[in-house]
Amino acid sequence: MTVASLSDYTTLRVGGPAHELREPGTRDTLVATALEVWSTGENWLLLGGGSNVVISDDGFDGTVIRVATRGIDIIVDQDGKHARVRAAAGENWDALVAATVAAGLSGIEALSGIPGTVGAAPVQNIGAYGQEVGDRLVGIDFLDYTSGEVVRLDARDLGLGYRTSTLKRGRAGIVLAIELDLDAGGWSAPIAYAQLASALGVQLGERVAAADARRAVLALRAGKGMVLDPADPDSVSAGSFFTNPIVTESFARALPAEAPRWPVENDEEDRVIAPGDAVPALASADYRVKLSAAWLIERSGISRGFALPGSRAAISSKHTLAITNRGGATATEIAQLAGYVQTRVLSEFGVLLHPEPVFVGLAL
Ligand SMILES: Cc1cc2nc3c(=O)[nH]c(=O)nc-3n(C[C@H](O)[C@H](O)[C@H](O)COP(=O)(O)OP(=O)(O)OC[C@H]3O[C@@H](n4cnc5c(N)ncnc54)[C@H](O)[C@@H]3O)c2cc1C
Repeated sequence: MTVASLSDYTTLRVGGPAHELREPGTRDTLVATALEVWSTGENWLLLGGGSNVVISDDGFDGTVIRVATRGIDIIVDQDGKHARVRAAAGENWDALVAATVAAGLSGIEALSGIPGTVGAAPVQNIGAYGQEVGDRLVGIDFLDYTSGEVVRLDARDLGLGYRTSTLKRGRAGIVLAIELDLDAGGWSAPIAYAQLASALGVQLGERVAAADARRAVLALRAGKGMVLDPADPDSVSAGSFFTNPIVTESFARALPAEAPRWPVENDEEDRVIAPGDAVPALASADYRVKLSAAWLIERSGISRGFALPGSRAAISSKHTLAITNRGGATATEIAQLAGYVQTRVLSEFGVLLHPEPVFVGLAL
């Protein structure tokens, strides 16, 4: 069918018309639809829950394939300690987390409340409150655009890193299903995020009932406008609009002492390096640190609720990292505000913030 406005399919509520929208609800029809569309050579766009995209006001000149497949399979090992969980790409991510926690499993409970679909989870290796899907991902079933074949890819072949993967970097195709390895027994994974530990009244590294961890995460997220809630205008967003920048330690040393920073792992090394840094001189990735994008934005003079004059796009009133649509904003207004934030942070600190959502038909 033709779609007058893709804004109905994105959580930011922006996006113009599309030639055609197809919504295959079974794995077989998803594969058949994709192969049919690909054989025509026309433009195609894959959409899940639309919670990590900014689609242009001109819309999409091609076919949008919206993944609507369903199915969750939980198989607990005979030793009762682990479980294999398989889920179809079109399942709602949070429904999957809820189902695993209800089954007494843990490993993704800190990822409660992240909007969107299961199939998109590996694309940017979703993460929150000390967990990433990559920590538990065994592999994916993938319809490869180049070969037209369904293949099984191991998690280690996906180049998973901080909010990235080979899929996000351009490997074309469709995640049909994912497989996770979770722990059984009802206890959460060790709490790995200070704010979550404090909300639960435990020390970092302690375990709580997985259901309690999920409840605490959902409450923390709601307080930041980070769960989709029709009653909360701050949740009309794409979540965090910028990733936390990764810079060399020598660059970070020149920032104000109170600027938050964390050491990063090797898998994050492909992220942005601040201009002016001697990148080739780095002896090891240990010299890189992650900065807080929210802190940089606030300290560059942009506060919660900020909007450009006359614009219907605004910084969330709960969190400087989210850009929200206050009602009727265009994708252009969203991009203008994002560009303004980028420019302010660049001129204040020399750090270029990278957008987290995927831009379709427009750029910053
Ligand atoms: C309020 C809010 C809070 C958020 N909080 C977090 C958070 O804490 N952590 C986090 O990591 N993210 C967060 N996000 C971002 C977003 O929820 C995730 O990135 C999510 O995985 C996107 O899923 P989706 O189905 O909506 O993907 P979409 O937005 O529909 O698509 C995103 C990208 O993935 C591709 N894609 C979608 N499905 C597939 C598939 N089956 N196979 C291959 N490619 C596919 C699309 O083509 C597109 O490029 C938040 C978003 C919002 C709105």
